[in-house]
Amino acid sequence: MQVCHTIREIGEFVQNARAVEKTIGLVPTMGYFHAGHLSLMREAKKMCDVVVVSLYVNPLQFGPKEDLGEYPRDFERDCAMARSVGVGAIFAPGNAEMYPAGYNSFVEVAGITDKLCGLSRPGHFRGVTTVVAKLFNIVRPDQAFFGQKDAQQAIIIEKMVRDLNMGPEIVTLPIMREADGLAMSSRNVYLTEDQRRAAPVLYRSLCAFREAVAGGERDVAKLRRDIKEMILSAPGVQIDYVEILSVPGLEPPDTLTGKCIAALAVRFGKTRLIDNMVVEV
Ligand code: AMP
Repeated sequence: MQVCHTIREIGEFVQNARAVEKTIGLVPTMGYFHAGHLSLMREAKKMCDVVVVSLYVNPLQFGPKEDLGEYPRDFERDCAMARSVGVGAIFAPGNAEMYPAGYNSFVEVAGITDKLCGLSRPGHFRGVTTVVAKLFNIVRPDQAFFGQKDAQQAIIIEKMVRDLNMGPEIVTLPIMREADGLAMSSRNVYLTEDQRRAAPVLYRSLCAFREAVAGGERDVAKLRRDIKEMILSAPGVQIDYVEILSVPGLEPPDTLTGKCIAALAVRFGKTRLIDNMVVEV
């Protein structure tokens, strides 16, 4: 596995791969890998000849009061994990490489970015789409792999690719969970023991939502109320949002029809966790 810190190095790596007609899969990440990241890399490896994993904690997608400084990092462990699943190259640029002095260009998807996480994290998705567009230009992958865990992000990136006629096909893969249902996240390490014990309530509330829908419930307001109620039964939680929206338009439906997502963000102390569940009626 090749470790590249500069755009020139990763550019040469992908150029060499393409010269022998290999297809390239890109998995964009912020590192501190868990089984969710590895599932994306494994799927990329199945679908493409060569897998490039970008590992970059992108300052542009963090708000001024967010956890950019504390975001967990373990580069050596990440490299060993990526190597173990057959990744061809890691691209781990520094900030000066990605945003050199005078950098002044940004990519913004309108509309679907100003709800859910876009409301509580202003500018977050502008940071995401800018860095992903840059990664697409640097690596020029045939396919790029994202997790359903960040459902809104995946929808926004698909929209960006369609709207701007970008090359890669976007592949979105299921949420990997701990045994008790908590969605895997690099941020789970922030949780105290008590918070970690309480956190699976998020998944339980989403499973109850799915069961209620399967049982015929179509009242969106009631479904949403029930999710909130179950979450608030856990100690020390603060709901950022619980929304039920259409997919992929992210519009609020009156009654549940077609493909819909229940998406939530909840704070356990200072730690903000997200999760979601898609249902089709
Ligand atoms: P991150 O490093 O958190 O930015 O995540 C990198 C990629 O991994 C994103 O496409 C995430 O959606 C995806 N991802 C994160 N957590 C999970 C999970 N639990 N299951 C599947 N994919 C995930």
